[in-house]
Amino acid sequence: MNLMDDSKLPGTRLEPKPGTLYIVGTPIGNLGDLSNRAKSLLKDISVIACEDTRRSSQLLKFINSTTPLISYHKHNLKSRLPQIIELLKKKESVALISDAGMPGISDPGEELVHSAKSNNLEVICIPGPCAATTALVISGLHSRRFCFEGFLPKKQNDRDKILKVIAQEERTTIIYESPHQLTKLLEELSDNCGEERLIQVSRELTKRFEESIRSSLKEAIEFFKINKPKGEFTIVLEGKKKKKEYLISKSEAIKKLECLIKEGQRPKDAAQQIASETGYTKNWLYSELHKKLDK
Ligand code: SAM
Repeated sequence: MNLMDDSKLPGTRLEPKPGTLYIVGTPIGNLGDLSNRAKSLLKDISVIACEDTRRSSQLLKFINSTTPLISYHKHNLKSRLPQIIELLKKKESVALISDAGMPGISDPGEELVHSAKSNNLEVICIPGPCAATTALVISGLHSRRFCFEGFLPKKQNDRDKILKVIAQEERTTIIYESPHQLTKLLEELSDNCGEERLIQVSRELTKRFEESIRSSLKEAIEFFKINKPKGEFTIVLEGKKKKKEYLISKSEAIKKLECLIKEGQRPKDAAQQIASETGYTKNWLYSELHKKLDK
């Protein structure tokens, strides 16, 4: 399929609605990931707010869009945000894109959407790639429930507080980090979570040198001592393992096991039954029973 030609795909054209803010996801490294809806909107909309106009003009060139760009980033947010809200109130439609990925995820998109909603303006998302979810779904760590931390604070005090919370978190945690801070972060995570905790370090997702390493924190630290971190990194950290909860005490479990065996059940089947009823493992029950019989 020709990635530039969306005219044959039904339902991709989207007339921008007046006075609406469009949050448009753009690729995190591979231009082929720009959706047809995003392409069509970025051609038809009146204005596009972006973080870096030079970077975004390359994207527009790729799709032959001549839509004007205005900059909206953390350094001009205070003055530019009210101007964008004014445009929307005057029934202009505005698209927001970031340097890469989903606007609003670890970038100033959050503040603009917050303000648009407070002004009762309509906000529509044209979804696209996000580094956090891209790394999560290939990690093999639990993805049913997860936390996103973005970049950790730079101030050591604030950072230490968050690291302590992350260490106790049972859900998988996703963190963004720059290459020159990666080793420091891995060491901090190891100090707080223990060196055996599993981690996936993904770099350059969707790009030519994409690589994901899954290992213990200890092994990851050793790996990056030898291989200097280069590129963009997303980290996926295994959640803290739940302490196993047993429904009854060890001695009660063994007593129940002995009862079943006395009633005529085969020891193997009895151990299996008690294991499923109590949370103790079948092997542990079995070996405890033998220890008792050997006495
Ligand atoms: N809005 C973006 C998103 O949806 O993922 C994130 C913006 S945040 C300012 C940039 C950070 O995202 C990078 O420093 C890196 O941690 C992560 N990131 C972005 N692209 C990436 C990629 N291709 N591979 C790995 N991490 C990436």
